[in-house]
Amino acid sequence: MSKKYEGRISELVPARLMVLLESRVNDPRIAGITVTDVEVTADTRYARVYYSLIGDDEAKAQAKRGLDSAAGFLRHELGQTLRPSAPPNSASFTMNRSSAANGWPTCSTSCANRTQRNRSNEMTAKLAEAWSEAEGLLRRAQRILAITHVNPDGDAIGSVMGFTLAMRQLGKTVTPACQDTPNSRNNYITGINDMRKEGEGVYDLLVAIDASDLQRLGSVYMPAQHARVPMLVFDHHITNTEFGTVNVVEPATSSSAEIILKLVQRMGLRLTSEVATALLTGLITDTLAFRTSNTTADTMAAATTLMRAGANLIEITQRSLVSKPFESIKFMAAGVLRAKVEDEVVWATVPKKLRAEMEFREQRGDAGLVSMLAAAQEARIAVVFVENPDGAIEIGFRGQPGYDVSQVALEFGGGGHPAAAGCTLPGPMRDAVNRVLPRLRRVVREH
Ligand code: 5GP
Ligand code: MN
Repeated sequence: MSKKYEGRISELVPARLMVLLESRVNDPRIAGITVTDVEVTADTRYARVYYSLIGDDEAKAQAKRGLDSAAGFLRHELGQTLRPSAPPNSASFTMNRSSAANGWPTCSTSCANRTQRNRSNEMTAKLAEAWSEAEGLLRRAQRILAITHVNPDGDAIGSVMGFTLAMRQLGKTVTPACQDTPNSRNNYITGINDMRKEGEGVYDLLVAIDASDLQRLGSVYMPAQHARVPMLVFDHHITNTEFGTVNVVEPATSSSAEIILKLVQRMGLRLTSEVATALLTGLITDTLAFRTSNTTADTMAAATTLMRAGANLIEITQRSLVSKPFESIKFMAAGVLRAKVEDEVVWATVPKKLRAEMEFREQRGDAGLVSMLAAAQEARIAVVFVENPDGAIEIGFRGQPGYDVSQVALEFGGGGHPAAAGCTLPGPMRDAVNRVLPRLRRVVREH
């Protein structure tokens, strides 16, 4: 962002917000607020708004509640101001009270020239703030739509169901949703049949879990109905675009399930064996049973906690990870036979007709092929191109330690983790291969 634009934004945004608060939100609880300052990140995606308010603690609490309930609307409107050419809701912001009474400075530093140390302190502070705002949003909400990503994996299903079962303890109505049907191997998770495939309905909070961007929510996210509802994001992908009103994003955490366990503990909810079973499913599937580079001592401690709460590690590993239909094993084997290693990249294409030939009924996914190929000693990166029924090419990447495939996936419109990522490109197969393979060869060459 140019200095000139930066200057203009820092004048424009407070003025725009004041107009919105006074003339559009029209809520008596926030009548006494003055916007004092705005910090905007260089990419204009994130804004922090400081405001002052005269009044007692009750007035301050009322104002905070008023602001929270207006947050979805303000985010939408402010997004139009910050990023006029971007789609609505592409900006997120937080609001901080800045009064002399509580000693918060009215900070106006630009985000461009801070030291690394400051930046990491700032990230820790930002995450701590996101956690407490998340808790506030959840406590106040009554009707929650909990959405996970399209083509859900074990972490998507486990974390969204763990969240749903735990939040229902607070008497809230929680609807779990996912555009696509969960794999039947996860049928042991309590409440999985409550999952809806669309987002129709009246909700006062949306919670996106394990999704790195808004598109990953698929058709469950309905802009016309949902744009004004606050969105809370829980995720662990390094490529997360922070598309929520509040974003709890922890890329160093093994799984979204591990983040939801922290939420359960923070909010003092009961870790029932049903909640623990759902969450351990996420943790086991995203770490391939503690074998991937995102497994830390904290992951092991989380697994211990979940086992002590009644989750059966052996049964969950068997059902969610190991056991699969024979046809899926045959499908994977056929994929392995098609694979080649070239320039330290192991790759395979899986055309639609291979599913039919192997009588593999599942219409999507690679049945674990890319993870299997990633074991090749001769390769640094593994990639599998799967042709979907609609002709689009779903691409899965795996990188050995030190190789970051998440950035390649991001360049092609997808996302993920440094060691495991994915994206979807238009067909035909040959075009997708010709775009992606040279890029991966370059990653290996430049390493
Ligand atoms: P998998 O290869 O196991 O399907 O996915 C590996 C990782 O990449 C997962 O964390 C998954 O969420 C992410 N991923 C896979 N496909 C996509 C995609 O099309 N878009 C995004 N944003 N992430 C993806
Ligand atoms: Mn995950």
